[in-house]
Amino acid sequence: MIKTLLVIVILSLVAGVVYAFGFWGRPVPLRFTLTENADTDQDGFIDTWHFASPHDGKADFVEIDSNHDGRVDRLQFRNPDIQTLDVSNSGSDVSARKKLAVCLDGAPYEVMAQLWDQGLFREFSRPVKVISVFPSVSDVALSEILHAERVPGYENLYFDVQRNQIAGGAISTVSKARIPYLEILDYDEPGIFKGLAYILPIRTYRADLGRFLKRYAASPRGYYKAHLCATDSLCHLMTPNEFAKYLREVDTLLRDIFLQHQGKLDLVVFSDHGNSQVPSRRLDVEHFLAEAGFQVESSLRSQRSVAIPGFGLVGVMAVYCATDNIPRLARLFSRCEGVDFCAFLEQGAVRISSDRGTARILADASGHRLKYERVDGDPLELALICDQLLREAQVDSQGFVQADVWFKSTVEHQFPDAINAIFRGVNNHVTNRASLLVSLKDGYHYGSRFFNQLVTLRSTHGSLRKTSMTGFAMCNGPMSQKIVPARDVLSRPGSLVEQ
Ligand SMILES: [Zn+2]
Repeated sequence: MIKTLLVIVILSLVAGVVYAFGFWGRPVPLRFTLTENADTDQDGFIDTWHFASPHDGKADFVEIDSNHDGRVDRLQFRNPDIQTLDVSNSGSDVSARKKLAVCLDGAPYEVMAQLWDQGLFREFSRPVKVISVFPSVSDVALSEILHAERVPGYENLYFDVQRNQIAGGAISTVSKARIPYLEILDYDEPGIFKGLAYILPIRTYRADLGRFLKRYAASPRGYYKAHLCATDSLCHLMTPNEFAKYLREVDTLLRDIFLQHQGKLDLVVFSDHGNSQVPSRRLDVEHFLAEAGFQVESSLRSQRSVAIPGFGLVGVMAVYCATDNIPRLARLFSRCEGVDFCAFLEQGAVRISSDRGTARILADASGHRLKYERVDGDPLELALICDQLLREAQVDSQGFVQADVWFKSTVEHQFPDAINAIFRGVNNHVTNRASLLVSLKDGYHYGSRFFNQLVTLRSTHGSLRKTSMTGFAMCNGPMSQKIVPARDVLSRPGSLVEQ
């Protein structure tokens, strides 16, 4: 009898797990589907979107762009009577409304702009570019965007300088130990799913969306901040077309939230960095360094030791070594296939070294003016821009240029905002600063060997290349189309809204 009971209990447990898993990661149920869109004034641009409930197929509501600026400004409900709401969100008091900020981790600007041009995400103004930080990895970029204290390292797995050992890793993601930006977020994907995302990317992604929607609906918070991490893992593993296809589910999700509030909320959606969207291969740094007499290890035991935390498969390496070895390793890395450049601190200045030459970045006493001093060659390929700045009299007698002038003049460069990004990258962001930061070319990555064998990487980020550095931001209000630095995306409520 007891045996039979036990069997029944075990069987029901197994059935429960199978049932839960079967339903876990299914698409978020749709409340509305797009039935028709129209260009009512025949100007070649869609201005009306008809939605119906998937259950009865009747036209339930219409979104209208009445002033033809591309963004929905009227909501019309047709059940039972026609009722039109103004959702233009211009000139309204932004402080009185509920606010929601959603980070779609790693979603590149190009993809979002393309989807918007195809008629999606039209509750928002057309996305603008956001220039990320260097290294363009989530922990660093999100700390910047959320104005959080420094993270221990560039990724979850990091090198603890004082204890001379690799620390953190998956456990710290789960326990949320000492990662200040996580404390600011109201929603983040539970750590356990961050690894699973590389094995079951679509299910994990859909579970992330569904979980966020539920948690948000249950929260009384006036300003809710969410980080949807699974968009990045999806981007890492999918072709650009597949990725764009799955992002359509975010369009539906955001519309659902928009409708729940009848458009009366301030919604900011952004990414923390971009993505290369090209397949890449892992740099065999261990072998490369061994040939030069160095050894990649988990702690610095001898003069030959080099520690490089290998975690996510990213386009940057944080290298830790004995101080005496830094210049030699920098020279070595600049000759390594796949390396774009390396940067390190040398007597208060940042030294950049690549096969294109060497240069230094110096700050004046105020810290607001920076100088790019070419030693030989032009590692950041900024010669043309420097000449332009000279002609425009933006360079002072000592050779320094305002930080925001550097930003404006280099945002579209292949290394966006390079001078500020490298200077801050080497000096700030983490408590355990690397001896050297090595930025890789698109098509190359470094990270865990085990992880590398597990997945086929179709995209990555982390480097200073334009692809990795360019994220997006958009809001459901009129926006200036200026390019924004990551730290300004959420600097104040409604900061993206055109003033
Ligand atoms: Zn990210």
